[in-house]
Amino acid sequence: CFPLAGRRIWVTGHTGMVGGALVRRLADLDCHVLTAPRAAVDLTRQAAVEDWMAREHPDVVIVAAAKVGGIHANDSRPAEFIHQNLAIATTVIHAAHVCGVRKLLYLGSSCLYPRLAPQPMTEDALLTGPLEPTNQWYAVAKIAGLKMCQAYRRQYGDDFIAVMPTNLYGPGDTYDHATAHVPAALIRRFHEARLRGDPAVVVWGTGTPRREFLCVDDLADACVFVLERWSSEEPLNVGTGEDVTIATFAAMVAKVVGYDGRIVFDPSRPDGAPRKLLDVSRLGALGWRARTPLESGLRAAYADFLAGGGR
Ligand code: GDP
Repeated sequence: CFPLAGRRIWVTGHTGMVGGALVRRLADLDCHVLTAPRAAVDLTRQAAVEDWMAREHPDVVIVAAAKVGGIHANDSRPAEFIHQNLAIATTVIHAAHVCGVRKLLYLGSSCLYPRLAPQPMTEDALLTGPLEPTNQWYAVAKIAGLKMCQAYRRQYGDDFIAVMPTNLYGPGDTYDHATAHVPAALIRRFHEARLRGDPAVVVWGTGTPRREFLCVDDLADACVFVLERWSSEEPLNVGTGEDVTIATFAAMVAKVVGYDGRIVFDPSRPDGAPRKLLDVSRLGALGWRARTPLESGLRAAYADFLAGGGR
C-alpha cells in the first residue's frame, strides 16, 4: 500500500483530457499536485525534464503527457506520433529514475495490443501479434515506454507501473474534426448538423467495428486506486468490460445531442481494428470498477463541449 496523501505528484500533460481529469481527481486528496507549463519544460528534452524534476522533487510522476489523436491523425502524421511518444517516455522515465522518484505511473492504451488479439484482451496479449497499421507508430512508442518501466524495475528496483486504458471520452476532449477520436468528433458533427438542420450526418467506416468507451474521470479514479495498491511489472487494463458497435455508439451520441436526422456510413474511411474490448478482471479482482454509464457520461461530455471546454 502506497498512500498518496502528503505526496508531491507531478501530472505530466495536465492540459490534456487525461491529465486534466487526474488533476481534478487528485484535488480530492490531501496531496501536492505539481504541473509544468509546456513553455517551461519541453518533455522531449532530457536535460529540461531532469532539471525540472531535480528542482521540484516529486515523489510520484504520472506520465499522462502524450501525442494522441484519432484514426486519421495517427495515420497521417506517423513521424510526430512515434517521435514525441518515444521522446516523452525516455525523458520522463529516465529522469524519474535519476531523481529518485518513489513511484511512476505510465499510461499505455488498448491499441498497444495486437490488432487481432483474442477478445476481451488480457494483459498477456501484449506483443503476441501484428499491430493495427493505422496506429502502429503510436503503439510501438508506447510499448517502448511500457518496456522501459519493466526494465527499470528489473535492473534498479524502481516502482514504475503501467495502466492500459481503453478508448476514452469526457470533459476536456479535443473536438477538432481532423484529429479527434470518435466520441468528440461525433459530438461536434451531430451538434453542428442539428444547428444547421442537416438531413444526414456522415460517420466514418462501416459502423461495424466494436469499441469500449471509458469516461476519463473513471480512468483518473482508477489511476489513483492503482497507484496506491499496485506494484508489479505487469500492466493493468482499465475499461468498463462492455463494448458497442460504432453504429450503436453514433445513434447514442445523436440522441444525447438531440439530432434526429439520418446516419450515413462512409466505408471509404478506415475502420481500424475490428474490435477492442479489454479484459478487466485483473483490476476488478483488486476491487475497482468503472461507475459512469456510457449515456450519462456522454451527456456530461456534451455539456462540456457546449460550455466551450473542448479545444
Ligand atoms: P481507434 O479506436 O484507434 O480506431 O480510434 P478512433 O476513436 O479514431 O476511431 C474509432 C472508430 O470510430 C473507427 O472505426 C472509426 O472509423 C470510427 N469513426 C466513425 N466516425 C469517426 C470520426 O468522425 N472520427 C474518428 N476519429 N473516428 C470515427
